[in-house]
Amino acid sequence: MSIRILQLNLKTSKTLEKKNLKSNHENPFQTELNLLGQAHIPKFVLKIIRNLRDEGFETYLVGGCIRDILTGLKPKDFDIATAATPEEVRKTFKASRIIGKRFKLVHVYQKNTIIEVATFRKDVSGDNFDPDLVKDDAGKIIRDNVWGSLQDDCKRRDFSINAIYYCPLTQKIFDEHNGIKDIANKKIVSIGDPQKRFEEDPVRSIRAIRFAAKLNFKLDKAVKIAIYDKGMLLQHISNARMFDEFNKLFLTGWGEKTFQKLKNFDLHKYLLSTSKTSTHDRLLNQTFINTDSRYHADKSITPGFLIAALLWPKLLEKCVKDNSINIRLFFRSMDHVLREQQKRTAVPRKFSSYIKDIWYLQLKLSDRFRNNPKKIIKHPRFRAGYDFLLIREIASRDKSKLGVWWTKFQKLDSEGQDRMLKQLKSPSVLESFRKQKPKDKPFGFSEELG
Ligand code: ATP
Ligand code: MG
Repeated sequence: MSIRILQLNLKTSKTLEKKNLKSNHENPFQTELNLLGQAHIPKFVLKIIRNLRDEGFETYLVGGCIRDILTGLKPKDFDIATAATPEEVRKTFKASRIIGKRFKLVHVYQKNTIIEVATFRKDVSGDNFDPDLVKDDAGKIIRDNVWGSLQDDCKRRDFSINAIYYCPLTQKIFDEHNGIKDIANKKIVSIGDPQKRFEEDPVRSIRAIRFAAKLNFKLDKAVKIAIYDKGMLLQHISNARMFDEFNKLFLTGWGEKTFQKLKNFDLHKYLLSTSKTSTHDRLLNQTFINTDSRYHADKSITPGFLIAALLWPKLLEKCVKDNSINIRLFFRSMDHVLREQQKRTAVPRKFSSYIKDIWYLQLKLSDRFRNNPKKIIKHPRFRAGYDFLLIREIASRDKSKLGVWWTKFQKLDSEGQDRMLKQLKSPSVLESFRKQKPKDKPFGFSEELG
């Protein structure tokens, strides 16, 4: 299915550029793009749209899915916008549930698939008093369940490229803010004044950066300035929401580039406490490279692993004394480092023991004496610990080949493993250990400890 989508999309974006399609403001529905077709939109999504339309509710696909299809990417998910209220959507589908408070949505279920259906909302900014709208002291909107028309819904979206509505049944496109033109020009343009829009919701500034990195688009000048001006408001966002954003920023395939861009705007500090040494920079970079390539290879990725890796330099900072790790401080500092991170992004409880295991395994993987390796290899988190060891090794340019040793060791049967352990005890190896300077001795790579 993905190949089909790509082929279709390439054709789509070329045709768009060729025709330089613009939306028609007098009658936006005249812009008919009979290009998307239904072929690559999941049947379940089509069914939801059809049912809502049959009930008399105007309904469209909108947001990331349309943007991604038009830029030649495979959509991550399909968001539906409708004139039906959450209660009406809930009534239309037996397997559905209303979620959220600030932002009520309906989840419609089928087996393992969840499709999000959002009701058209009004732009709740501006000076008009509205009892359903609540703002905090910094101007941030904290509740916005004010239903509206399709036009209203369009206005409240963040960027023009995210405000293209498409009905796969009628193949009509609604593009009031020229999103299609901005896609052709590869530009992130704010809907409304970005200074105001980022003040209302500071998360929009990191969303702009995420889309620029993912799509390889330029940020419109006004958006750039607003990020510089309003970026510091991110400090007021709850750590739970920042954790959601953290996952979208770094676990969806473009983490390395996104982190670089965030750094350029000095916004990375609202997501992660970093230190300034170049080894630490390389570790973060290597971690993002690794996570991005796992994402594109459809391998599992978890926030737990990413957090463990990204916070490793912070942990070392706390416990490295005289070029070696102080073990007592190492264990004592784990909770402290996690608590510090929680000031920025939540770290859900279910990940904390996983993160600590990965850290602890870094010590264990350096300890190859006696029968230890045969025990460690049975540790339930061995694989994650080993994967992280490889990342550390590359980042710190270590030549001791500890990673290679473990790669070999885990592939052998018990007898082969015994032979490898015996080799470690051979007089020549022991002698070379003895000659090593203390800083090269157990635990950690010398560059990391410097
Ligand atoms: P992704 O590929 O990450 O899913 P997306 O654009 O679909 O990208 P979502 O968070 O799924 O992002 O949001 C769906 C749509 O809702 C967006 O395309 C945008 O139109 C709107 N939206 C989401 N968050 C905001 C926000 N903070 N302010 C304004 N509009 C938003
Ligand atoms: Mg989406």
